[in-house]
Amino acid sequence: MVHASGAGGQVRIYAAYTKNLVEKARIAHDTTPVVTAALGRLLTAGAMMGSMMKGENDVMTLRIKGDGPVQSLTVTARSNGNVKGYPGQPHVDIPPLRPGKLNVGGAVGKGTLTVIRDLGLKEPYSGSVDLVSGEIAEDLSYYYAVSEQTGSAVALGVLVDTDLSVRQAGGYILQMMPFAEEEVIERLERNIAQMPPVTTLLENGETPESMIRMVMDGFDTEIYERLPADFVCDCSRERVERSIISIGKKDLQEMIDDGEEIEVNCQFCGKHYRMTPDELKGLLARL
Ligand SMILES: [Zn+2]
Repeated sequence: MVHASGAGGQVRIYAAYTKNLVEKARIAHDTTPVVTAALGRLLTAGAMMGSMMKGENDVMTLRIKGDGPVQSLTVTARSNGNVKGYPGQPHVDIPPLRPGKLNVGGAVGKGTLTVIRDLGLKEPYSGSVDLVSGEIAEDLSYYYAVSEQTGSAVALGVLVDTDLSVRQAGGYILQMMPFAEEEVIERLERNIAQMPPVTTLLENGETPESMIRMVMDGFDTEIYERLPADFVCDCSRERVERSIISIGKKDLQEMIDDGEEIEVNCQFCGKHYRMTPDELKGLLARL
């Protein structure tokens, strides 16, 4: 992932190559191609948007709820480029819009996009907009305009291979500073209108840096940060134990009385945690 500024500081631009990140998510959730694309786009945006935050412990959550068969997409991002996420329904199969063009908008449907930023303040910041198309990049651009009064261009792409693995994934987000001059905005709009889709760029061997240079054609551009982007889940047995403890003595005793091993699955990465009745007794003793 690369961060850059350009046009004398009037523009910020972020770009990421996320093939391995999205492939990890696909394997974790066993997603069908249209869900791989939908979740992969939101994860790619999440990696970039999360990395715009400054604090080590800052957390951003992107949540899409739609009336389409995917139902929802949830992505949590940290400032170091780590993201995790899951779809409401991983096994959606709907016809492509045309050969090679997955119908992400149709899979997501109509609904809302919510962005929550927890910067360690009293109240997390939260903004919500209606979905424009469910294609995700467009929805995020609309979110920036409406909820943050920021002019932006968001481009995201995930290409799924014939063996269903992720062949390409990446994207870029361009943001205008409030003081950006009209002619700068117009020139950038022309540049962006001429950009091929992200998956085409990546298939042609373009990188985050070269995509930034293409968008910023005609302007000075300075790359000021490079950081990894990865699909990482921070779940652990200890966290699962704490969440079981939090259900309270009575319910925990009932689970023990059932005498059965229980299984807790992490929503974000699909990892399974098993607890025997004896282990549950140990948790009860800690209460
Ligand atoms: Zn996990």
